[in-house]
Amino acid sequence: LTVTDLVNESYERIGQVESQVKAFLTLDEERARVKAKELDERLARGEQSGMLFGLPIGVKDNIVTKNLRTTCASKILENFDPIYDATVAQKLNQAETITIGKLNMDEFAMGSSNENSAYQATRNPWNTDYVPGGSSGGSAASVAAGEVLFSLGSDTGGSIRQPAAYCGVVGLKPTYGRVSRYGLVAFASSLDQIGPITRTVEDNAYLLEAISGVDPMDSTSANVQVPSFVNALTGDVKGLKIAVPKEYLGEGVSEAARNSVLAALKVLEGLGAVWEEVSLPHSKYALAAYYLLSSSEASANLQRFDGVRYGHRADNAENLIEMYKQTRAEGFGDEVKRRIMLGTFSLSSGYYDAYYKKAQKVRTLIKQDFENVFAKYDVIIGPTTPTPAFKIGENTADPLTMYANDILTIPVNLAGVPGISIPCGFSNGLPLGLQIIGKHFDESTIYRTAHAFE
Ligand code: GLN
Repeated sequence: LTVTDLVNESYERIGQVESQVKAFLTLDEERARVKAKELDERLARGEQSGMLFGLPIGVKDNIVTKNLRTTCASKILENFDPIYDATVAQKLNQAETITIGKLNMDEFAMGSSNENSAYQATRNPWNTDYVPGGSSGGSAASVAAGEVLFSLGSDTGGSIRQPAAYCGVVGLKPTYGRVSRYGLVAFASSLDQIGPITRTVEDNAYLLEAISGVDPMDSTSANVQVPSFVNALTGDVKGLKIAVPKEYLGEGVSEAARNSVLAALKVLEGLGAVWEEVSLPHSKYALAAYYLLSSSEASANLQRFDGVRYGHRADNAENLIEMYKQTRAEGFGDEVKRRIMLGTFSLSSGYYDAYYKKAQKVRTLIKQDFENVFAKYDVIIGPTTPTPAFKIGENTADPLTMYANDILTIPVNLAGVPGISIPCGFSNGLPLGLQIIGKHFDESTIYRTAHAFE
């Protein structure tokens, strides 16, 4: 098997299914083939060195890639070709993967269905009438459809785990600070993390290892040792202490999701793990706090899209202020505008204490909920989402129902801890996800637990 074979297979599969799945915004076929040839020559000389040598990968379109179009699925970055690589893209180069293309998402990672992309709605490969989840819907769908072996997504409030659950693949949001955000177009800087989406837990562990580590270009990246995550895949969960929050199996969670989690707990019990019910009492405030905080940060982060520095610029503006206004009115979609308005409001003087500051206090309480549980338990387990994927168009008229999708994933971002979604059965032919949450920088225990199902 050569690298060229792998790359051929990837583009062949894309040729077969992409017209239905619509996961990619940009393909980088010419360069991928040149690189495959180079790697094959090195392979012939026995010079391969990268830990993911020759493996085809897809990259979410909010991760900047040198000379490869990066749009964030927004009209405002329609023609943006970055002049540098994100740190994770550099790390992929060192690992010697082959970038197949850039993947669709909700515009600026705001959404849960990929319907907020300015370009196309990615479909769920299990049933193309359904959404793949979001915002990393292209990343999850491309792996589920067999177009690529690996992909990178980003997760601010569930955007890796929720689409992984909906598409029946493995997706991990690392601990905040585990992976550099340099070159990830910022949505909510205190919550955003890049993470791996793969078919198997083992692949996931390899990819996380390749992209992790402290980075002088990101002051929030943590100077913590990166272990060999693959070494954690021992299959041994004897004595593992599992906490199951009652809030994660209660009201709003479907029968199917609840039963699939209980079945998974049985499996772990059979392997010698023990579980108990616990409470994360402030979970019910997580959604409100998240949408305030993330929108506040977004309103500041998105100020840079002014028609001067990047991408789209409105024609025929009379003066500078008009140019800013028209550029942003034309360039941003409805959801992005909604968040900028909400965030600007909550940060304005007179409202700041009542909204932004209050939400920060709630965030601290949520973080303490997790600390209390992790003082006694190794992992927290629950469903990734209350239900399986919904139909395309089903929730578009009602942003609040759409936001409610994130209820089980958001607390994890607010606390900064890592969480994975792994496949956990089906409901009406659509996959369900099991969420395993770990302590800060303890992705190893998450992987060990997740691997027990493989
Ligand atoms: N669905 C959530 C939102 O719309 C999460 C997005 C994300 O994690 N990037 O904000």
